[in-house]
Amino acid sequence: MTNPPVCDYEGSDYQTSFWDKGGREYEDRTEAIALQRLLPKSGRLLLELGAGAGRNTPRYIGFDRIVLLDYSRTQLEQAQQKLGNSDKYIYVAADAYRLPFVDGLFDAATMIRVLHHMADAPKALGQVKNVLEPEGIFILEFANKQNLKSILRYLLGRQKWSPFTLEPVEFVKLNFDFHPKAIRKRLEELGFAIEKTLALSHFRVGFLKRVIPTSILVFLDSLFQWTGAFWQFTPSVFVKARVVQNGILHYGQDNILSYYKCPDCAHSPLVEKHNYLECTNCKKKWEVRDGIYDFRQALKD
Ligand SMILES: [Zn+2]
Repeated sequence: MTNPPVCDYEGSDYQTSFWDKGGREYEDRTEAIALQRLLPKSGRLLLELGAGAGRNTPRYIGFDRIVLLDYSRTQLEQAQQKLGNSDKYIYVAADAYRLPFVDGLFDAATMIRVLHHMADAPKALGQVKNVLEPEGIFILEFANKQNLKSILRYLLGRQKWSPFTLEPVEFVKLNFDFHPKAIRKRLEELGFAIEKTLALSHFRVGFLKRVIPTSILVFLDSLFQWTGAFWQFTPSVFVKARVVQNGILHYGQDNILSYYKCPDCAHSPLVEKHNYLECTNCKKKWEVRDGIYDFRQALKD
């Protein structure tokens, strides 16, 4: 059904094994600082792409409403347990290549540690552009192929691929690193203007993380993040971009049903039924179960 392939975290204990017990407090805290620096303090409706178990969601608290989107339903269930069911949070299982939202809906979107798994990054970024309103803000994190470690390895002959060329590198199946220049170019082609760039995780080195207290590393990283405006040699880069090209401004923001379009035929609005949304154009049915809208695959009759 999905094309290009999707990196699926269904049934994964990613939150526990990678974040809670994986020694990633340093990365988590440097991301919190970057988000605080880049994200508007308040807003109307934010789309969190690849929300996972909601690790970053509390950092978007200034927005009236947040749509958590992930391809994995079980990740969203974990987010639900953490954040609860309220009007503030909307949970959507969907494919980032086929977003089920009408154009110009959101005033902000974030995509953190997600592009990393995108076989067709331009396609996913184009989808984000479409659902943002004019002047909408997009915070994008990507893994940087031109990082100091890969440069050293390349110069020492221990790595075949060049960190300096513009194409993405798939170093493990469905894990991609990108060149900052290529990302910038793509965003600009789509009609974004890049307002800020931060370089993150200067000290993502096992040895340093073991011997130096996390708070000190986080503090030092926060000082160095601004150098991203001039050069990017860290493994992680954050970009703040704004939609500058003509776009559509969507109205009717309070009614959640008005957010959606059919991901298969783009028809909108969908019609609300007991446990699904129906597309009156192509007749597909999209499941709504236990507070999660599921647009991955249409229900079978
Ligand atoms: Zn349809």
